[in-house]
Amino acid sequence: MTVKPGQKGSASVEEVPDSRTEEGALLVRGRAVGVCGTDREIADGGYGTPPSGAERLIIGHESLGEVLEAPAGSGFSPGDLVVGIVRRPDPAPCPACAAGEWDMCRTDSFGERGIVRLHGYGSERWRVEPDFAVPISSRLGHLGVLLEPASVLAKAWDHVDRISQRAFFARGRALVTGAGPIGLMACLLGVQRGYEMHVVDLAMAGPKRDLVEDLGAHYHTGDAADIDVDVDVVIECTGIGAVGRSAARRLASGGIMCLTGIMNLSPTFDLDATALNRNMVLGNMVLFGTVNAGRRHWEQAATALAAADPGWLGGLITRRVPLTSWTEALDRDPEDIKVVVDLTA
Ligand SMILES: [Zn+2]
Repeated sequence: MTVKPGQKGSASVEEVPDSRTEEGALLVRGRAVGVCGTDREIADGGYGTPPSGAERLIIGHESLGEVLEAPAGSGFSPGDLVVGIVRRPDPAPCPACAAGEWDMCRTDSFGERGIVRLHGYGSERWRVEPDFAVPISSRLGHLGVLLEPASVLAKAWDHVDRISQRAFFARGRALVTGAGPIGLMACLLGVQRGYEMHVVDLAMAGPKRDLVEDLGAHYHTGDAADIDVDVDVVIECTGIGAVGRSAARRLASGGIMCLTGIMNLSPTFDLDATALNRNMVLGNMVLFGTVNAGRRHWEQAATALAAADPGWLGGLITRRVPLTSWTEALDRDPEDIKVVVDLTA
């Protein structure tokens, strides 16, 4: 699965040389790759960087594969299911990367498999360093392809948990904006933490509502500001400023709001910064952004998926396309939640 970053419509399938052992001691047979908004943005020419010296980038950062070759002492054996971690530390490295917290990199010169500077996992065979491979239980099986999006929300919730330790805090209600794969994963992890979860989305009915209600959570349509409850936590997953602003109106004093989404839109000055200042000061509120995930979040995500209902997780995968026609995975179908490319077909 390749693209020429910066060139819209360049996504195609092509033969590439086998990856070199320097790219990782584990040789993996690719099973599946999930496609998300970042992949669509790269395919549209709006994002992405090929490796140094290359013109094209092997795309794909939501991986799942089966180990073919593993060196002794690596902790992996042939047949094991693995997911490859996305980010690698910057070469400098910055203080955060030097401390092993490369998800908090202080520079923008890190690499990300399938996104910036490093080839991704969208190929029949790929390599990964054992330290950047996460084992997937055979019970989770093909659902392991959901680990990358889950890791992003595991980090968001981990940071909410840490921020909540600053003072008295009770895990009461939480609101998620957007019921796509990220929002649904945010809802799952909130339910697992014991929050009364609320999700707001534009869709009136259909699989999104069913998936939210199957978790025992509350589904709302329309404007988040009109929801009839106040919440202790907001996890914003749409990237649309106006949606976040509406959701913030439901945040109780002492509340924590986490921004996880981004939209490729021109910024507009649509915020009253003085009102924001006043509300945040008087309400002891925290607003923070989060991206990517560190090693511990990948492990937390694996635990969270293992504890979830496999039938529910399977409901997130609404479409599968074979490798030979993978670019169809970039098309947006209103019924899609998560589209997965089958690398074995
Ligand atoms: Zn760094």
